[in-house]
Amino acid sequence: MFRRFYPAEMAESSYSIDYESLYEQGYRGIIYDIDNTLVEHGADANEQVIELFRRLCKIGFRICLLSNNKAPRVRRFYRGAKIKGVKLHYIFDAHKPSTKNYRKAMLVMRTTKKNTLFVGDQLFTDVYGANRAGIKSFLVKPINKKEEIQIVFKRRLERIVLHVYRKERMEHLKQSNIVLIGFMGCGKSTIGHRLAEKYNFSFVDTDLLIEQKAGCTISELFATKGEKYFRDMETDILWELVRKSKRQIIATGGGMPVREENQKLLRKLGVVVFLNLTPETVLKRLEGDTTRPLLQKATKEQEVRHLLTERKFVYQMTAHKTVRVDDKSVEEVVKEIADSI
Ligand SMILES: [Mg+2]
Repeated sequence: MFRRFYPAEMAESSYSIDYESLYEQGYRGIIYDIDNTLVEHGADANEQVIELFRRLCKIGFRICLLSNNKAPRVRRFYRGAKIKGVKLHYIFDAHKPSTKNYRKAMLVMRTTKKNTLFVGDQLFTDVYGANRAGIKSFLVKPINKKEEIQIVFKRRLERIVLHVYRKERMEHLKQSNIVLIGFMGCGKSTIGHRLAEKYNFSFVDTDLLIEQKAGCTISELFATKGEKYFRDMETDILWELVRKSKRQIIATGGGMPVREENQKLLRKLGVVVFLNLTPETVLKRLEGDTTRPLLQKATKEQEVRHLLTERKFVYQMTAHKTVRVDDKSVEEVVKEIADSI
C-alpha cells in the first residue's frame, strides 16, 4: 500500500553515499533536495557542500538542485555552492512530488531516468516524486532533527511508512540470504560473522565448505589439483546452497563471481553485497599473510592493482549493493549494509 513511497536506498546522510561506486555503475546525474538534505533548513551552502560538489564534479557527475522553496532562497544557496568548473543547475518552486521538474532537471543535466539519482530527506515529496519520475531515490536522514511544526506531523506519517517498509524488507530477507563478495582482505568473514549475529542467521564461508569437502586447505587444493578443479568445486557448492540455504550469511571466495554461471547463482541465493576497497587497503591488510594462493604469485603491488581492477567490474556486475569498506570499522560497515538491504 505504501510501496510508492519506498526509497530505493536509505543513507545516513548525503555525504555518506558511495558516489564513486554509483558512477561506476553508470549513473551520471544527481538531483538534490536542499533543505535538510544538504544543509539545515534555510542555511547557505557551506564548505561541506562545496567539497561534495567538487568531488562529484571530479568523478564526472552533473548536479541539479531541486527545491520546493522560493526563488530567493534557492538562488542564494546556488550562488554559495557554485564554484568554477562545477556543472551545477537549480530549479526552485519545484512542486515535488509533481514529476515535471524532475524531468526538467534531467533535461538540463542531459541525463535520463536510467542514469540519474535523486537524494532527499522527505518521503512524500522528494522520494515519491522521484519514484513517479522513475528515478532511483535515496532517502537521507534530515540534517536538523528539530523541525517546524508543519513538518513534524509529516514526519510521523513517514515513520509509519518506514516502519512498514523495514518490516516488509525483513520478512523478505528471512526467506533469503545475504551474500558477501569482494577481493581478499575486504572483511567478508569478519563482517559476515557480525551480520549473522545481528540477523540471527547462520554464517557459512564457501572456502571453508570446500576445504571440508576436499579434506585439505585451499592452497593445497590449488597446488595439487589446479585452479580449474577449485573453481568447479565453487560452482558445485553454489548449486548446493541455492537448493537448500535460507537465513544464511554467505561469505564467498574472492574469485567466485568471475565465472558467469556463478554470478547468476550468487544473485539467486540472495542479496549480494560487494565490499569494495582500494588496492592500498588490500595491501595494508594482507601484509605478512601467506595463506592466499593467488596473492603468493602476486605479492607485488602492481599485480594486486591489476587483479583488483579486473575483478572490480565483475563484483559490481554481480552485486545488488556496494559498500565501501576502507577506513571504516566493522560496526560501521555492518550498519551501512543493514541500512541498505
Ligand atoms: Mg528537504
